[in-house]
Amino acid sequence: MPWIDTERCNSCGICIKKCPAKAISMENRKAGINMDECIHCGTCHSICPEQAVRHDSEKTPYDVKKNVEMTKKFMDTCAKSLGDEKEKWKCLERMKKYFNREKVIAEKTLEEIGKLK
Ligand code: SF4
Ligand code: SF4
Repeated sequence: MPWIDTERCNSCGICIKKCPAKAISMENRKAGINMDECIHCGTCHSICPEQAVRHDSEKTPYDVKKNVEMTKKFMDTCAKSLGDEKEKWKCLERMKKYFNREKVIAEKTLEEIGKLK
C-alpha cells in the first residue's frame, strides 16, 4: 500500500488530479491517501515529482519500532495500574497473542485470496 512522506510532499496536487479512485486529498498543505478508497494502482507513486509516495515495504522498520514501543508502554502501564511488576510480563504474553493473531489473519487472508480467480 502506498503512503506519503509528508516531509517530501511539496503540495503540488498532481497526485490528487491523477488518482483514478479520488483517494488522495490535501490536508494542511500535505497530500494524504484514504486507504479505504485506494485501489493500489501505483499511479501516484509513478507520477510524484518529489518521490514522496513511498512503498509499504519501506515502512516496515518504522511499524516494527512502533509496535515494540507500544508493547513497552502497555507493559509499564500494566505494572503501574495494577500495582505489581509481575503484571508487565502477563501483558507481554497478551501482546504476543495479539500479534500472533494478526499474523494468522494475514496468513489465512493470503490463503483465501490466493484462491480468487
Ligand atoms: S504529487 Fe507528490 S509532491 Fe505533489 S502533492 Fe502528491 S505527494 Fe505531494
Ligand atoms: S495507488 Fe492509485 S488509487 Fe491509490 S492513492 Fe495512488 S493513485 Fe490513488
